[in-house]
Amino acid sequence: MATVPTNGANEDYRLVLPQSRVPTHWYNIQADLPVAPAPVLHPGTHQPVGPADLSVLFPMECILQEVSQEKYVAIPDEVRDIYRLWRPTPLVRAVRLEKALDTPAHIYYKSEVGSPSGSHKLNTALAQAYYNKKEGIDSISTETGAGQWGSALSIAGDIFKIAIDVFMVKVSYQHKPYRRSLMQTYGACVTPSPSERTNAGRAILAKNPNSTGSLGIAISEAVEVAAMSGGKTKYSLGSVLNHVLLHQTVIGQEALDAMEEIGEYPDVVIGCVGGGSNFAGLAFPFLGAYTYDFGDTAGMTPLVKMHTLGHDFEPAAIHAGGLRYHGMAPLISLLVDSGHITARAFQQNTCFEAGILFARTEATIPAPESTHAIRAAIDEALDAKAKGEKRVILFNLSGHGHFDMAAYDAYLAGQLVDGEFSAEQLTESLKTVPQLA
Ligand SMILES: *Cc1c(COP(=O)(O)O)cnc(C)c1O
Repeated sequence: MATVPTNGANEDYRLVLPQSRVPTHWYNIQADLPVAPAPVLHPGTHQPVGPADLSVLFPMECILQEVSQEKYVAIPDEVRDIYRLWRPTPLVRAVRLEKALDTPAHIYYKSEVGSPSGSHKLNTALAQAYYNKKEGIDSISTETGAGQWGSALSIAGDIFKIAIDVFMVKVSYQHKPYRRSLMQTYGACVTPSPSERTNAGRAILAKNPNSTGSLGIAISEAVEVAAMSGGKTKYSLGSVLNHVLLHQTVIGQEALDAMEEIGEYPDVVIGCVGGGSNFAGLAFPFLGAYTYDFGDTAGMTPLVKMHTLGHDFEPAAIHAGGLRYHGMAPLISLLVDSGHITARAFQQNTCFEAGILFARTEATIPAPESTHAIRAAIDEALDAKAKGEKRVILFNLSGHGHFDMAAYDAYLAGQLVDGEFSAEQLTESLKTVPQLA
């Protein structure tokens, strides 16, 4: 691989490992955490939930992965075989972006844009559909906001012959007709939410017939369909949960493998964060690699050791408009608390500016979510330039933006408004958090 920005000659700047190097296992960071994660609580009793509580919604294999302490979980052959359709994904050195920034930093990105659904989400969709099918389930309900998750699960449902029932937030259903047709092309049933199909939807429509929906409402509808199905339909979530993060670790393991082949190691690993899955997928295996390398050093936990070595993990929080999930993955929250990951927030205009620079240098139009990671990577590269130091930067290009051109339109027309989020608003919204004894 090029060690200096290339002049366009014959130096490689893109590495695609052979299909045989698709990981055989997912990496489970729960085996390496500095402290045990807090239990998930039942919404009614506030007591820790057991497998039986969750089995209404999820297949047993996913529930077991949710609490598994095994460091490596074997990827079923059936799932790995489909991964090979587009994995391993390329590790690309952004030589043209480096040149445009005139930075001594080396910027690498792991490109998940080439999956059939256009983002990383298919990595977990396939696994979840497979486990459901194996347990005799024939249909899965879910929600989708912008459409990336619904698209991925629709493809997985088609492959493993499971009916996919998607509640799509009504405003997205209306504004993103091609996302809807993409899901329908794979045979999914797509319902604008709120709908008349569920008690939750009917209650909202009774109050406000013109409701354009929200992710929260769509989740309620999808969960209700599963809960009322008498065991026929399960529910599926595209981020946040431990087993979802687990399935995404193919990204980081491939990145580790490819970086080793190139002979570089990142000083900083970056991902945008909605619920946390693409960031965790890239970053967790790097945290784990340190454990593996230095785990035998006495007196310090591996993760603390890793922090001492000065590696920052910096997810950029995505703007409210691009948020699909209420919460952050517990595993990421825990690692932020313990100082192994740091969070950064950016306004969307500065992210679109970064996204357009990326499109005009590296040619791929990034998903709006991914522009937050690009913004952070560019800031790192400019900081390295200001300090005159070489820095190796790795970020996750979680998806392409081909279905998000309305957002680019708005940016190009100067019509994107940066949001404000005040301390008062935060205090206000925290009041809705349940009080625990
Ligand atoms: C869903 C999505 C995200 C945010 O979700 P995470 O679980 O945080 O990864 C980011 N980028 C793209 C392209 C997405 O589709």
